[in-house]
Amino acid sequence: MINKLRCSCQISRGTLHCLRGTAGLDKKKALQYSALVMPSGKTHLGIELILLPVWVALFYLFIDTSWQAGALFAGAYLFSSLLLSPDLDLRHNRSRRRWGLLGFIWIPYTKVFKHRGVSHSLLFGTVTRLGYLGVLSLLIALGLSYFRVWAVPLDSLTAAPLDLKLVGTLVAGLWLPNTIHTLTDHVHRLWPRRRRRY
Ligand SMILES: [Zn+2]
Repeated sequence: MINKLRCSCQISRGTLHCLRGTAGLDKKKALQYSALVMPSGKTHLGIELILLPVWVALFYLFIDTSWQAGALFAGAYLFSSLLLSPDLDLRHNRSRRRWGLLGFIWIPYTKVFKHRGVSHSLLFGTVTRLGYLGVLSLLIALGLSYFRVWAVPLDSLTAAPLDLKLVGTLVAGLWLPNTIHTLTDHVHRLWPRRRRRY
């Protein structure tokens, strides 16, 4: 069976024959294309988890030898791998399913960010998801405060000194898996073209 995506793209028996990328395809067809050409969520997670011991070893050797800092880095890395995948810009993805009943909170994110747009940016991808969670948390805190259920402890928050080393460790742990995800997407997208050429 052959499904024509566009004149230059065809799916035949589960194999994609396409000369160009998803430019010009509508969203449904672009997702069909992605499903065939892009690595699955399972593959992404597998690659990220395989690389985790390497990052922890490098972190220990070059940044911090304390087990607390290593555990914080590994925890942030796992949180990002499992729950903050760039593919949260898709309606159906493994990362969103892991949020369980709270998965619905990512619906507005899928509406704002198109698939493999800024959400997959090496620099800003992680920022979009952390910023999104930050705005959501702020709205919930303001709602709870407004209805006098819970008051945000602003005094203790502003009094606490900012630990730059701690922030750097968290940022590195959260950012690395997203970077690996985006780079893996790029490599996979190039691979079939090269294979077809030779
Ligand atoms: Zn992706």
